[in-house]
Amino acid sequence: MIAKTRQIANIRHLTNNLPTVRYVDPEYVYIAITNARCGQGESYVKVGDKVKMGQKIGLRKGPFFEQPIHSTVSGEVVDVVKKFHRSGKLTEFIQIKNDKLNTFDESIKERSDEEIAKLTREDFVEITKNCSLVGLGGSSFPTYIKFQTTDPIDTICINGVECEPYLSADHRLIMEHPRRIIQGCLYAQQAFNAKKVVICIKKKYQDLYDTLTAELTRFPGASVYVKRVGNYYPQGWEIEMIKTGLGVKVPAGVLPAKLGIMVFNVSTIAGLWRAIKWNEPVMKRNFTCTGDGVKIPTNFRLRIGTSLKEIIDQCGGYTDDCDNKVLILGGPMMGANLVRDDAVCTKTCTSCIILNEKKEVEEPCVRCASCVYSCPAGLQPVQIMNAVKNNDKEALKTKLNIKACILCGMCSYTCTSKIHLTDYCRKAKKMAQ
Ligand code: SF4
Ligand code: SF4
Repeated sequence: MIAKTRQIANIRHLTNNLPTVRYVDPEYVYIAITNARCGQGESYVKVGDKVKMGQKIGLRKGPFFEQPIHSTVSGEVVDVVKKFHRSGKLTEFIQIKNDKLNTFDESIKERSDEEIAKLTREDFVEITKNCSLVGLGGSSFPTYIKFQTTDPIDTICINGVECEPYLSADHRLIMEHPRRIIQGCLYAQQAFNAKKVVICIKKKYQDLYDTLTAELTRFPGASVYVKRVGNYYPQGWEIEMIKTGLGVKVPAGVLPAKLGIMVFNVSTIAGLWRAIKWNEPVMKRNFTCTGDGVKIPTNFRLRIGTSLKEIIDQCGGYTDDCDNKVLILGGPMMGANLVRDDAVCTKTCTSCIILNEKKEVEEPCVRCASCVYSCPAGLQPVQIMNAVKNNDKEALKTKLNIKACILCGMCSYTCTSKIHLTDYCRKAKKMAQ
């Protein structure tokens, strides 16, 4: 899979400076009844029912939490269909025909600043649970569970690093809505009664720094700070960002909350702003579609549930110079390869990278140790590969510590012999469960 990452150097289409365009409303949206975290789910609607934007239309159930399902358009339920979820699983989706009237559900209404000031931590839990807010950087971890922590939180760290190359959804979100981000930070600070909020961004993005610091002048006395961190990958890995941004080393296996630190992705904090200010669930998100395989790379604001095929059409379609395309949903390092373009964009899809395929031939390992030197988790990717080949589950669990692998893709990217080591790591994680 990570052969794709070596092709990234060939992408010439950068989208950082392209303003976000509003996606022309899709004819249909597809809302998943289950997902990777919630293997069970039920629909509250049937074919022929009329629905509104933000209306609760079902419930997903996971092993230790539930997630309400919302419609992201107003219109009519026309079918329940099987489509590919971003996780690669064939999943049931509620298909809704968009009437393009954008009629909001009555539950979506503004809270005044006075009402917000009175919200307790329990209210934050309730609101984020009802709005089904999850980690929008890709983790999909339910936000309300973060608000339930019993650990005292001193510092909130906002991940605006977007460290995988060529992604710009978060970059544009900060550039275009800095006030919402800062307001969202202040809401989180209120909920945890935290002393400060630190927004981490890459050092090289002067525009982000200027935008955020200029906006902060509107919030005199706010304990919200902008910290410029490294330009390297994986700077956005929570543990690395805390180390660089806050100067705190989080020991392996310890949750940052135990050290008084709570981390949110910048898209999640914008989602928090919507949930608190408007009681609005996540219905749209920023999404980058780029790569040398698509005609017009674009940053979109799109409806959750839009088909990827439609997004590619909005980008002018595929380029004609190469018949075989590589489609990666997510970033080039950690994203998932797609075998077809009719996947559905869910809340946690940040981007799609479309590349003209270049064949690469895998060669035998030459024992150069590049993979070992590049691993941010201090693992031995080549040994992990050998253990997978030998079906040595015990070694994976114990001496090779596969649990610590964050599937960052660095080992594949640096492998001299073009071996897809991260694929072995993925298999190893499953084997060691
Ligand atoms: S994918 Fe896992 S083993 Fe490979 S470099 Fe990243 S953390 Fe290390
Ligand atoms: S980088 Fe590739 S070739 Fe070098 S030791 Fe690791 S697996 Fe072998």
